[in-house]
Amino acid sequence: MAIDKEKIKQAIRLFLEGIGEDPDREGLRETPERVARMWEEFERIRTFDMKLFEEFGGYNEMVLVKDIRFYSLCEHHLLPFFGKVHIAYIPDKKISGLSKLVRTVRAFALRPQVQERLTEEIADFLERELEPKGVGVVIEAEHLCMSMRGVMSPEHLTVTSALRGVFLKDIRTREEFLKLVKGK
Ligand code: ZN
Repeated sequence: MAIDKEKIKQAIRLFLEGIGEDPDREGLRETPERVARMWEEFERIRTFDMKLFEEFGGYNEMVLVKDIRFYSLCEHHLLPFFGKVHIAYIPDKKISGLSKLVRTVRAFALRPQVQERLTEEIADFLERELEPKGVGVVIEAEHLCMSMRGVMSPEHLTVTSALRGVFLKDIRTREEFLKLVKGK
């Protein structure tokens, strides 16, 4: 994805006119520029060094990282959906530090998304880069496009999951993961 700031600025100005606002009034005058700059920032956050996972031997118990906060944008309405990602994997050769998992989540979240695909993309990426025996990803999120329109109550959470490797094949591993995710 390449950011075209001029296109974003034109579009935001037109959008503001479209909803009956005056894009030249004080508070909105800089808005197209601000939005364009924000997307440039998102672009910078998205591109990170994917070869960050360390070689490590000897540990093959489940690694679980709960409650990674994330913010994404639903691609149907361009409104935020946000919440928590829970990631577990059973290492084979490599492990990942917490900050790398957080960056992985951000890289896939900061773009127009749907929650199901975000969940799958994180699981596929970790399966490819970490080469674990298995990986599981659960996302709990509130979607503002639903909450703001009153379609769902604000506290309603949508839950999605993606399982790979032994998390898919072995019922006990899967149940252990899901139990750990639910336990607060
Ligand atoms: Zn939506």
